[in-house]
Amino acid sequence: MGATEQRHLSRALVVDDDQVLRLLEQETLSQFGFEVCQAADGETALALLVELPPDLVLLDVDMPGIDGFEVCRCIRQRWDANDVPVIMVTGMDDLNSINQAYESGASDFIAKPIHWPILGYRARYVLRSAQAAQQLRELEERQSAIVRAMPDIIFLANRAGVVLDYKEGYGTTAFVPPVRLLGSRLSEVLPADVGRLIVHALRRSLATGDLQEAVCRLMQNDGVHHYEVRIAPSGTDKAVIVVRDITSQRINEERIRRLAYFDTLTGIPNRQSFLERLDRELLRARGEKRQVALLFVDLDGFKQINDTLGHAAGDYLLQAVAERLKEKLRGSDFVARPLREESGLHVARLGGDEFAVVLPDLDSTQVVTRIAERMQSLISQPFQIGQHEVTVSSSIGVALFPDDGDDSASLLKHADSAMYQAKARGRNNWQRHVRTPDGETAPEFDLASEFGHALQRDELRLVYQPQVLADDGTITGVEALLRWQHPQHGLISPNDFLPVAEQSGLIVAIGEWVIRHACRQLKTWLRDGVMVPRVAVNVSARQLWMRDFAACVTAIIAETGIEPNQLELEISERLLTNPDAGRVDGLERLQQLGVRLSVDDFGSGYSSLSHVKRWPTGVLKIDQSLVHGLPHHRRDAGIATAIIALARSLGLEVVAEGVETVAQADFLHRANCGKLQGYLFSRPLPAEDVERLLRQGRIALPARRSEAGCRQRGKTVG
Ligand code: C2E
Ligand code: MG
Ligand code: MG
Repeated sequence: MGATEQRHLSRALVVDDDQVLRLLEQETLSQFGFEVCQAADGETALALLVELPPDLVLLDVDMPGIDGFEVCRCIRQRWDANDVPVIMVTGMDDLNSINQAYESGASDFIAKPIHWPILGYRARYVLRSAQAAQQLRELEERQSAIVRAMPDIIFLANRAGVVLDYKEGYGTTAFVPPVRLLGSRLSEVLPADVGRLIVHALRRSLATGDLQEAVCRLMQNDGVHHYEVRIAPSGTDKAVIVVRDITSQRINEERIRRLAYFDTLTGIPNRQSFLERLDRELLRARGEKRQVALLFVDLDGFKQINDTLGHAAGDYLLQAVAERLKEKLRGSDFVARPLREESGLHVARLGGDEFAVVLPDLDSTQVVTRIAERMQSLISQPFQIGQHEVTVSSSIGVALFPDDGDDSASLLKHADSAMYQAKARGRNNWQRHVRTPDGETAPEFDLASEFGHALQRDELRLVYQPQVLADDGTITGVEALLRWQHPQHGLISPNDFLPVAEQSGLIVAIGEWVIRHACRQLKTWLRDGVMVPRVAVNVSARQLWMRDFAACVTAIIAETGIEPNQLELEISERLLTNPDAGRVDGLERLQQLGVRLSVDDFGSGYSSLSHVKRWPTGVLKIDQSLVHGLPHHRRDAGIATAIIALARSLGLEVVAEGVETVAQADFLHRANCGKLQGYLFSRPLPAEDVERLLRQGRIALPARRSEAGCRQRGKTVG
């Protein structure tokens, strides 16, 4: 083609034995823009095909030597000239020679005598249509090459969805088994929903003349495959359907999404995902005028676990916390059924030991209280990390939309600062962000005046902590401990509000509420077949000084229908040394009735066992301040051992409080202390959670437990 490419004019080869005719033909074609070369016979013509490749041949039929028909046949057999248009010049205008001309491969013919004015037009027309045919051929070849190179599966289908032709995609799973394809309707060979989708898109494509796209999933032998289907109309009644298997693309997209939106350690959503989700929920809540709660959770003493057990254990703990929150919180009864599938409770890890929860569609702040309590209870249950059993508590900060912040950034900031308040209040509690009129976090609230309403507003709760036999962990009873669940400030420790309650005298009414509530709970458990031998209730001095205290307790026992010996009253050691201790009366009557009395916090003050002997008590509870120093602190160890021995010689049962480590439990067991109570066995838990332990009947003591995370001194409200 090199020579042809450089020519501007089309070249015509004129072959005729008649020189005059050759000259006339040359003259005519030159006028029509051809460059002309001549041959006087067939042999010369065939030789010129190579030397001066023509774009058109004007070929006389009747020549000496090889005739025109033969020359034409030879041209058609040559690979490099077989598509050159040939016009035969025939002297015989009979049908036979015309037929022969076409059979030997001529493109057209022209009869002698030549009608000179039309020869040029004829030549030009034949050349143009030969060129058009050539272009078409090239286009087809190119297209078929493209189609062959495509990995897609391609169908040609009619309006009814009947497959007229198809090409399998290489390297992709067959969309439909090929054997059933040709002549079948797509809706018959595909699952109903996919078939419907494609036929619908096909009709839309034919109706609009536009490209249509659809995405579908099909179950194949090796699992689910995703396909992208593109449909382009081809003519008015058919369409080309291109199907691409995008399964691996989908898998990669999902992988990228997981990396961007999920925490790689725990597999739950990360900070980015959380913030986007929070923004979406806020937008929706704004429109629907609903509340959203944001709970910011931080594990207490996580660093200690990392430091003592190593980072792998720390990582494992974070995974276990995430798993627990994800599994148990969502399924919680407290969470309302979400309005939309994706709009339920949302748990994420923000980083480090910080987790966050969004509660959308909040009907009442009561739900926040329950969820916060539930989270703390879930987190506080022991985690098994290898051979270690680890216990952690959590501090939670809460912020509500729209009251505590209008956007995700301010909500997060306020929940975070509320979490720090919870830490400052002795950890293991939750606090809600409090706003002052200028929008800043409020200083301490007026606890004394607020507490006045706690009882009427139903903000008081009881949690229960089991007591177990030192021998084998059998649960012998539970102690009821009071909590104040403030709607804004979260959980408040009895250490904070009891002095106020004592001072105002409210403790009397509250104390009665506690006894009644605890007895009722005990009765409910017994009725439900939960074995619980006894519930212990703390009573304060002011209660005991009430004249009708014994009568009140007796009435509650009768009213709730429990046995008197199923109730134990804990009286703090401090009362024993109080100058007004003598004002207490009626305790003997209660004791005779069968109610058990115990001396609480023994060893914390200045009381001696001789004081204890003057009281109708049968149980001594060793204060946690003494237990804390065991077994290494020699003075504490000596005092504790002596108290236990003396108490037993006086016929008193001994319970040790605040047992947090296996070493403490071992020491107390060896020192003959009968019962133990403390975080090592269980934190104080809401009734529904402690019920699970009660149904088990005992809390097994593993041979070796981790001490990390269990040792948190100071104010504890859990
Ligand atoms: P308490 O009667 O000596 O109760 C034991 C306290 O020790 C509880 O604190 C309990 O949560 C905490 N505790 C239990 N195991 C451990 C442990 O292993 N480590 C540590 N560090 N602490 C542990 P809580 O519930 O904060 O109660 C504090 C005190 O408030 C009680 O001490 C009791 O004197 C008083 N109190 C609680 N509820 C009532 C009530 O209903 N009426 C009255 N009058 N006083 C109550
Ligand atoms: Mg107590
Ligand atoms: Mg105590």
